[in-house]
Order: sequence, then C-alpha cells, then structure tokens
Amino acid sequence: MIEQPALHLGPWQILDILAVAAILYQLYRLTRGTAAIRIFLGILAIYLVYQIVDALQMRMLAEVLGQFIGVGVIALLIVFQQELRQFLLLIGNRQLLSGAPTWVQRMLGRTAVQMDRNEAWEALREGLEECRKRGLGALLVFKRDADPMPVVTGTRAVDAKISSGLMVALFEKASPLHDGAACIEGDRLTWAGGILPVTGRIDLPSQFGTRHRAALGISEQTDAVALVLSEETGTYSLAKEGRITSRIEGAKLVERLEEALASH
Ligand code: ATP
Ligand code: MG
Repeated sequence: MIEQPALHLGPWQILDILAVAAILYQLYRLTRGTAAIRIFLGILAIYLVYQIVDALQMRMLAEVLGQFIGVGVIALLIVFQQELRQFLLLIGNRQLLSGAPTWVQRMLGRTAVQMDRNEAWEALREGLEECRKRGLGALLVFKRDADPMPVVTGTRAVDAKISSGLMVALFEKASPLHDGAACIEGDRLTWAGGILPVTGRIDLPSQFGTRHRAALGISEQTDAVALVLSEETGTYSLAKEGRITSRIEGAKLVERLEEALASH
C-alpha cells in the first residue's frame, strides 16, 4: 500500500492557497468581459480533471492530459499574450489598488479618482445634444474593468476632463480626431480616433452601418459600454455585452448610461 502523506495545513500552506486564489481572481477579473474568459475557464476545467484523474491513479488518461497541459502552458502564453502583459502591468497599478483603503492608496502616492459623475454626465449629454443638432455622428467607449486598448488601433491620446465643448470640438467634421471612437474613463476623455473591432454579426438591421457595428464589436470583445450618436438618424444607441439598444431619447441618455455602467 502506498502511504499517503498526512494533509498538513500550516500557515505557509494557507498563504500558498490564498496566493493562488488571489492570482486566479486577478486573472478572472482581467479576462472577464473578454472572449479569453471562456478559454481561461476551459483550461481551468482541464486542469481540475487532470488533478482528479491523477489522484485516482488513472495512469493513461493522466498521461494524455499531462502531455496536453505541458504543451498547454506554451499555448497559454500565446493565447493570453495581451492579458498577461496587462496582468504584469497591473501589478502595483491603480486597478489593483482601487479596492484598497484610501490611506493605503495615499501612502503609495495614489489618490482615488475624484469624480463628480453627475457633472460629467450632464456635460457629456449637453455636448452630444449639440452634436446632434449639428448633424454630427459620435462614438464613445466607456472603459470598465478590461482595458479596450489591446483590440483598438490608431488611438491618439487626449486626456482631458469631459466638457460639452470638448465633445463638439472632437466630433466636429473639421476635427482631425472626429473619425473613429473616443474613450471615457471616469470623468476623463483618454483617447480619440480609435478604430474598434467591427462585429461579424449578419443578423443586424440594415440601418446599422460600421459605426454601430464597431460599437457592438467592442462590447463583444471587452466589458466596455459603447455609445453611438447616429449621424443619419440623430438617435442614440448603447451597446453592452454584445447587445445593442437603439432609439434612446436624449432625455433618457444619462439614466440609461448609468444603468449600463452600474450593472455587471
Ligand atoms: P450613422 O448612423 O452615424 O451613419 P452607421 O452605423 O451608419 O452610423 P457609418 O455611416 O458607416 O455607420 O459611419 C461611419 C463612421 O463611423 C466613420 O466616419 C467613423 O467615424 C466611424 N467608424 C466606422 N467604423 C469604425 C470603426 N471600426 N471604429 C471606430 N469608428 C468607426
Ligand atoms: Mg451611416
């Protein structure tokens, strides 16, 4: 009989478990809202099956799965290239610390983003309504947990506080930045001119051109919310998690936006 070592659970083992749990949770947070989450959960499932099969001493299956996991590590590095880069960048970054108490953030030289959302949203709505009156189109991406940057190309940094004038200046036809999407993080506009991934869906109404398809595309690939002001119809649409809601009235815009951004 093979002697099984007794399960020893000392402080280091507990720390070990907690550290692995923390890493897995951060990976989950990073991939949540992206297509990578399914791959992440799939790999986790294979690993769990492997552990069970191995513990039951089902040698052949364990051998096959073991080989798969051996190669899987390299496959993982390739598949999660972007997420891993983000994960490494994240260590010590604001996202990781945003849940920490204020004194910890202050100690590390970071202060929580002070944002008067009401003021920002009101300015945003005013600006977009002015764009609508002028017959302009607009496309805005609201960043949430996952950074949309890895799937967006051609962005140009802006980093300015939201104001109604800024919206008009940005989407005015003469503006060099009016083409493409602009990104909002908190109460700041961070970049503009971004080319978003376009959805490949074929079941969309014909009035949905590339701008609407781009909004849907970014909402499929990240957890961001995208807002479209249609140049053709002067109506607003909101895309979230691969679904688009159209014909939103200007008066309901802030409310709908808050709803979309609040729920996960
Ligand atoms: P609208 O109702 O405003 O006409 P639409 O859905 O019919 O929108 P288009 O008419 O094709 O779409 O809109 C073209 C504009 O959408 C472009 O000028 C550009 O600013 C923006 N756009 C198109 N494709 C993308 C993309 N992949 N990423 C970001 N912006 C895009
Ligand atoms: Mg169009």
